[in-house]
Amino acid sequence: MEKDEDGGLTRTVPVFLRHYLKVANPAHRVALSQVLLSGHKYAVETGRRGKSYRARVDRTCRLCNQVVETPEHVWLECDVAGQLVQLRRDMVGDVGALCTPNELDWMTEADGDIVETMKRLVALRSAVSRVAQEQWRRKTGSEASEAPTAVRFTLG
Ligand SMILES: [Zn+2]
Repeated sequence: MEKDEDGGLTRTVPVFLRHYLKVANPAHRVALSQVLLSGHKYAVETGRRGKSYRARVDRTCRLCNQVVETPEHVWLECDVAGQLVQLRRDMVGDVGALCTPNELDWMTEADGDIVETMKRLVALRSAVSRVAQEQWRRKTGSEASEAPTAVRFTLG
């Protein structure tokens, strides 16, 4: 409820909880939220302020030094490091196994656009826990020794 023009609490305002906030593993949920809210350590963000400031075009990938280091570049495009490529293969395989046929079709429609693919990865309700785990793995350098925990649907 919010106040109306007369100060009364009569106005109903819908509030929606983002589905990625339902990822059960708190560390995975925080890791994904940091990417979505630009609280990550990829160069596109770390070069935005303070002593580390660099023009956006100069915030290049620390691995390939070819393009701006964004989450979508590191997750989906950069192929310099074999470990990154393997992480990507593992994630794509796991996400593909978790998705519904309709979600797989929808992912295919991104047609190689890495920004659109990243947005769609996060939007996948069936696989968002695996996507969140992926960011946690990349952030911590951890192996995926445990399966991503299920999404809790206790709200909304
Ligand atoms: Zn790169």
